[in-house]
Amino acid sequence: MQTKLATINVSTLKGVGPKVAERLAHLSIRNLEDLLFHLPYKYQDRSRIHPISSLRQGEYAQVCGMIETANIVFGKRRSLVCKISDDTGTMEIRLFYFSTAQKKQFITGQFVQCYGQISHSGRSYSMIHPEIKYLHDNPTPQLEEGLKAIYPTTEGLQQKTINAIIQQGLGYLKRAKVTELLPESWLTKLGFPPLAEALLMLHQPPLDVPLTAIENGENLMIKRLAFEELVAQHIALQKAKKQIQRYQAYEVKKINPQLTKFLDTLPFNLTTAQQRVIQEVRVDIQRNYPMMRLVQGDVGSGKTLVAAVNMFDVSGMGFQSALMAPTEILAEQHYKSFVSWFKPFAIEVTLLTSKMPAADKRKALETISTGQSQMVIGTHALFQSQVSFHHLALVVIDEQHRFGVEQRKTLLEKGVSSNQNQIKPHQLIMTATPIPRTLAQTAYADLDLSVIDELPPGRKPITTVVMDEAKRELIIQRVKQNCIQDNRQVYWVCTLIDESEELQCQAAEVTHEQLQAALPELKVGLIHGRMKPQEKQQIMQAFKEQKMHLLVATTVIEVGVDVPNASLMIIENPERLGLSQLHQLRGRVGRGEKESHCVLLYHAPLSKNAKQRLNVMRETNDGFVIAEKDLELRGPGEVLGTRQTGILEYKFADIIRDSEMLPDVYFCADEIMQQSPKIAEALCSRWIKHGDKLSRV
Ligand code: ADP
Ligand code: MG
Repeated sequence: MQTKLATINVSTLKGVGPKVAERLAHLSIRNLEDLLFHLPYKYQDRSRIHPISSLRQGEYAQVCGMIETANIVFGKRRSLVCKISDDTGTMEIRLFYFSTAQKKQFITGQFVQCYGQISHSGRSYSMIHPEIKYLHDNPTPQLEEGLKAIYPTTEGLQQKTINAIIQQGLGYLKRAKVTELLPESWLTKLGFPPLAEALLMLHQPPLDVPLTAIENGENLMIKRLAFEELVAQHIALQKAKKQIQRYQAYEVKKINPQLTKFLDTLPFNLTTAQQRVIQEVRVDIQRNYPMMRLVQGDVGSGKTLVAAVNMFDVSGMGFQSALMAPTEILAEQHYKSFVSWFKPFAIEVTLLTSKMPAADKRKALETISTGQSQMVIGTHALFQSQVSFHHLALVVIDEQHRFGVEQRKTLLEKGVSSNQNQIKPHQLIMTATPIPRTLAQTAYADLDLSVIDELPPGRKPITTVVMDEAKRELIIQRVKQNCIQDNRQVYWVCTLIDESEELQCQAAEVTHEQLQAALPELKVGLIHGRMKPQEKQQIMQAFKEQKMHLLVATTVIEVGVDVPNASLMIIENPERLGLSQLHQLRGRVGRGEKESHCVLLYHAPLSKNAKQRLNVMRETNDGFVIAEKDLELRGPGEVLGTRQTGILEYKFADIIRDSEMLPDVYFCADEIMQQSPKIAEALCSRWIKHGDKLSRV
């Protein structure tokens, strides 16, 4: 029987002393199996020479040519420019940093070979700081065999070092065994190669394999690994789900006797969908183990009230509940609603945010820990260690997608500090980011799912138009009319998704000045992420009280803010945002009786894909349809990525790219869990390096 790679420590390899071992550990590499799962993120082809005439902008290439000239050029920056030519054309090598010795090496008539990225400067192609080999009089290039793999690495660990270590590891692949964990039958069914073959190929791809297919995950070998990873993650989440049931929870067995009375105070009836979800939660929280439920509901579907009713039941039992919002603005807004709803029922609602004045905070902490406070509303400050709850039975997490995976993880791991360790609160996670159901099943396999698939009656759909920035003047006039004649309010949203928040705030400041200058008769406000919470709160409040007509904002207003009189929204550069995010933003209007409009003010030229995506916004108001389309039209690196949705991150898999595999993933995972618990275990320990990562308790 062959040795298993997972049992061989990396420190048995040459060149891996304690220092290097420690750095490898930063990359989660401890044994040879870990090492072989550490795959290149790109490849370089130094096996051939590209004729200059075949070069293309942006590509990496290797060129060999004769030196024509080499001169120091004094342009914007001093540089050394060396012209080389082959039989097909000429190209420049450009160095901004160079020594006199280096300059002397470029001798007219001699040959050089260089590898680098092609850029197009002026009329000719050039390489800036390529790797250079001086061939002197010999015109024959030095070629390497195969592709050169470039690995992700960490501080203090050079590419050359990790490459050499992995080369040694690959030698072991032939002698020792990398354990195959996927059942043979599934490999056959899906046409997947054995694991060893996939790993070897990805470390050393043959020259005829299209590299882009590897880099964008279309390659079968990558799919093979992605599949295994998804299976492992699915198993891990299923296990986490079972583990949760080992904890105890307060049983919320009764509906609050005052419920009808409370509902009578509302100016409307609950929608059928709200009632259904409230009921689904009720069934869960009367159990003696923690609920873990995700509620998906489009913007404006009334999620807050669902949470409120369940929290009301909890307080009826004499337990405490907490609602956590992602921003201070939202926390304050919820706090106000809850006070107005529940004060008449002698329920004490407490606000807790990190930015509160110290004295208020101290008081809040005290009412929370004594149990005097029955409902607690706050930001993530709720989960800091100094907060001690009293019979906390239910935690509601609002707009969950705004929390990063990490944040959610710590928060749920820690749970909440309570004197009873074995008792964990029921958890209700609410999100307006509609993830298509199949994806939600994967990303949230440890959660039960509820969907509020109905909006309150009488909502007017928001009319959306897509317009060129060139029509800005026209829009500004329309804003004026909207505010003065129709007495409505307007949001003007500045977005700069790729830039820093700092820049986004600056952009908003500039726009604010411009709009105020263009519309002197209007009161124009400004809100952005760099303002103090209290300032933001005051501005939102003033806007709500109609003390200003127009509010220039960054995406801070994306979540939850409720100003029914605002009926027009202009979004600048909408092409830069994901559709789901646009949908969230747009959901800030259309909350009142009046017709609402949204103007997507794009910057021409629009790519075909961007055009299609903006058209989706024009055609529908349904968040789930938008999410599906978002998926379909997703360009490289765009939208719904894990970053935006806050869903699990994977090493090789991408649940959107790999969504077709998901049904097979579920079947395969179930089969393994039922038939071979040992393999299920092994898959988890192979793929989930920090075992607790997935646990949401
Ligand atoms: P979201 O699901 O986006 O969090 P909210 O809970 O903020 O939505 O509700 C949006 C608005 O709809 C609020 O003003 C709320 O009072 C109102 N609302 C909630 N439920 C109903 C209902 N059943 N009928 C009419 N309006 C409702
Ligand atoms: Mg909400």
